[in-house]
Amino acid sequence: MDIINKRLSLNEFRHYIKDYDFGPVSPNKLVIHHTYKPNQSTWSGERTMLGLKRHYEGKGWPAGPHLFIAEDGIWLFSPMQKDGVHARSLNRGSIGIEVVGDYTNQVWSGTTKANAFGAIKSLMVHLRLSDSDIYFHKESSPTSCPGNAITKEWLFAELDSIRLGPRIPRPTDTPSIPVPSPAYLDDEEMVLIEVPDWTREAVDFVATHKLFKIKEAEDVRDAVKFYRFYKLIRQYE
Ligand SMILES: [Zn+2]
Repeated sequence: MDIINKRLSLNEFRHYIKDYDFGPVSPNKLVIHHTYKPNQSTWSGERTMLGLKRHYEGKGWPAGPHLFIAEDGIWLFSPMQKDGVHARSLNRGSIGIEVVGDYTNQVWSGTTKANAFGAIKSLMVHLRLSDSDIYFHKESSPTSCPGNAITKEWLFAELDSIRLGPRIPRPTDTPSIPVPSPAYLDDEEMVLIEVPDWTREAVDFVATHKLFKIKEAEDVRDAVKFYRFYKLIRQYE
């Protein structure tokens, strides 16, 4: 079984699918799962991906699900241009999305939630899928997957309430695309954006070396912006 075993940030994933060759017939549905085991605390990225590969190979499967979505990013498992093996009658023409964790009693949260909704939404936009093209594993097999806490009502309500911010340009892209503002008010829609890696270093540098001093009124406003940005970065770690 060939797996990609690569981790992407949400922003990288959005670039990835934009350039991706989904084959002559694009996938026409998404199937949502939870991993149950491994859960969030036993997930360890590349190592877990290789363990899953061995597990599926042991069952004699030629492929597995396509994506594993975790706190640390969106992991590419089986290539999306080929059918995966994850949901019996729903395997054909679908993308199998595993959300890492046990969602029997709780819904997705944290960066896993942001990554999951970001990936689902961007695939829906790119492949022109509607709500009726989103399936749960339990619709094809006797299982509670993707977990009893996850309902279609909740999923669609959350999907409705988010919109994707513009992709952060890659260095090779034209620099004319505006970088979205990280500041939003509580009554505004949540916008999922990714921050470039260099900002983490910059913010850490300013914080570590205590470069921020408040000397005049204008500095207070900058301090608030800095704090908001600091929080934004931490939230994506
Ligand atoms: Zn499942």
